[in-house]
Amino acid sequence: MNPQTKVADLPGVGAFYKLKLKRLGIETVEDLIYHFPFRYDDFSKVEEIRNIVPGEKLSVQGVIWQIKNIRTRFGKFITTAQVADQSGVVDVIWFNQPYLTKTLKAGTPISLSGKVDTSGPRPKLMSPAYEILRSSQQPSSVGSDPTNIQQGRTLHTAALVPIYPETEGVSSKWLRAKIAAILPVYLKTQKDFLPQDIISREKLISIDSALQKIHFPKKWEEIETARSRLAFDELFLIQLASTLRKREWQSEKTAPEIKADPEKIKQLISNLPFTLTAAQKRATDQITADLSRKTPQNRLLEGDVGSGKTVVAAIAAYVTLLAGFDVLFAAPTEILAFQHQKTLDAILSPLKIKVGIWTGSRKVAGDITCGTHALFQTFKPKRQVGFIIVDEQHRFGVAQRAKLFQDQTKKFTPHFLTMTATPIPRTLALTLYRDLDLSVLDEMPLGRLKISTHVVPNAKRNDAYKFIEKQIADGRQAFILTPFVEPSETMASVKSATEEFKKLKKIFSPARHPELVSGSNSSRPALPAGRQARTIKLGLLHGRLKSKGKEKIINDFKKNKIQILVTTPVVEVGIDIPNATVMMIESADRFGLAQLHQLRGRVGRGEHQSYCLLFTDSRGENSVRRLKSMEKIHAGFELAEIDLKMRGAGEIFGLRQSGFINLKIADLSDTVTLAKTQREADAIIKKDPALKTYPALLEKISSVQSDYVQPN
Ligand code: ADP
Ligand code: MG
Repeated sequence: MNPQTKVADLPGVGAFYKLKLKRLGIETVEDLIYHFPFRYDDFSKVEEIRNIVPGEKLSVQGVIWQIKNIRTRFGKFITTAQVADQSGVVDVIWFNQPYLTKTLKAGTPISLSGKVDTSGPRPKLMSPAYEILRSSQQPSSVGSDPTNIQQGRTLHTAALVPIYPETEGVSSKWLRAKIAAILPVYLKTQKDFLPQDIISREKLISIDSALQKIHFPKKWEEIETARSRLAFDELFLIQLASTLRKREWQSEKTAPEIKADPEKIKQLISNLPFTLTAAQKRATDQITADLSRKTPQNRLLEGDVGSGKTVVAAIAAYVTLLAGFDVLFAAPTEILAFQHQKTLDAILSPLKIKVGIWTGSRKVAGDITCGTHALFQTFKPKRQVGFIIVDEQHRFGVAQRAKLFQDQTKKFTPHFLTMTATPIPRTLALTLYRDLDLSVLDEMPLGRLKISTHVVPNAKRNDAYKFIEKQIADGRQAFILTPFVEPSETMASVKSATEEFKKLKKIFSPARHPELVSGSNSSRPALPAGRQARTIKLGLLHGRLKSKGKEKIINDFKKNKIQILVTTPVVEVGIDIPNATVMMIESADRFGLAQLHQLRGRVGRGEHQSYCLLFTDSRGENSVRRLKSMEKIHAGFELAEIDLKMRGAGEIFGLRQSGFINLKIADLSDTVTLAKTQREADAIIKKDPALKTYPALLEKISSVQSDYVQPN
């Protein structure tokens, strides 16, 4: 076995679990070992049965006295058992697991962990976790410290029990057993890749010890030391890998030196139907300056949706074309590729430049060719490709791509530009991805209306509803986001959305609330004379609706048959309703700012002034202050930066999904570890740039994936 051995080849895994594990991102033994618990149940306290305290989480160990299945009137099974140690006997009950009696029999030594139920006359253990004790695990005396795993530590009970990210069919119990079985074997195949001097300087524990402790800690403190080591590794390896990559291509790769003709650029810009923002000018300068160097450019252009990234790319592309090189412009979907082609064509065709398209269904080569994956698979450029632009690269993950476009003589490597709307805080991008230069479009084109954003005190909730009514009377529409932040929509969140929907229907119903009907109450802002209050229709959208149902609601909203869309955060994904002008968000403090920004971006897409109303139940000064920053700041990456400082990177919406940052254990707001790892990475490269004296480290780095584009 080696770290890259497929889990499917392990005993007891096979094809059945292979697919399920893949959903957890586990394909190799190493993936499994690096699948870390996200919390632990503390069942480490083993009590004598006579001492057990109701309500407490605890473990007992003893022998099954008797056990049997009872069938209830409703055809369900209850398993009842009595378990005894030297001090006493306790009742144990499991529900609907009649198969338990196949393995658990009178006389079986057993370890149980759970909560003691208080309701009956005698204390009971309800549905405890259990495991049969092998002779090596049997406690010499009750209350003793659980032994460690090599000596046959208990796995599921009587310990700090690790709880893992799970998926259907793969429980924490299953993972625990597999990891416990494979870990000792894995550790034997591995040497510590981190140089000893770093380990001692940074006061880290060995990798063996860290992996052992993160999965099967004996004490809480062990989890902390394990985390420190593993987080250090994670950040250190990323920084080292990106620094090495940068050195490598800077010293070995040559790009065409593409000099811009300022007159031509000016001409192009003056033909645009708008003036460039200062941010666009700055980004254009940075990109064209890079093009003129013989080191391949590797730059990330970051800017919110609508900040105008395409035109920046178009100018740089034009410069490249004038110098006699081809340009490729890749997008994650065919629709986007077509859209880019149209946009570029509008800008470049007056200058006699042919903009091609290259997708699965349409293939027309141009001087600059837009396209999907197909570009990297089947496209044969006429001339040397000088510049490759990749839009939202993370969404189609072609890190392996364009080796093809190095020229035949191996003389030239193209320049690279990646564009994204993912709000990656500048500090993060620069510390972690040291081979990427960064340009940021931190302002929106002039004339675009800022979305007027307000944190609204609960006392003014009715005013907010009235405000929404008034907007609707003016012909506009509104979103009301119900207060649930769920990574995947659960039934609970759907239920509360449904309840909120009922409540809102009453609030916006003129029949039940005559005071809300036009003119009938003085506290209500009067509608302009002659305008009738209309009946307001509400629709409910959530993730559990069938796609037909979703489509219908969204279509009705688009057609303004529905004026208020009550919704869970599913609206994030590209709904475009230019007529909607209000985004009201309940429990806004539960969202990351970057996510709120994304949600806010659902309005303000048309010609009308739009509004974002944020409600919160939190009185905390910090959380209100955090929300208030939404009132002033309108750039996603700046908000992400605040998130990072205040809540840690896990909260930054989209970062994880983006593939730019996909950390298992390190916390990106941990600036201390970031600084340490950066220092150590710099030091080791200074000492031994090729890591010749660190073969284990070099090998480890090659397995650090880079999910983003880099010059080849
Ligand atoms: P994104 O950054 O989301 O890719 P686009 O490049 O698609 O944004 O630009 C969005 C829209 O804004 C396009 O219609 C584009 O023509 C327009 N636009 C770009 N720059 C400016 C500007 N400086 N002033 C006004 N409109 C602009
Ligand atoms: Mg775009």
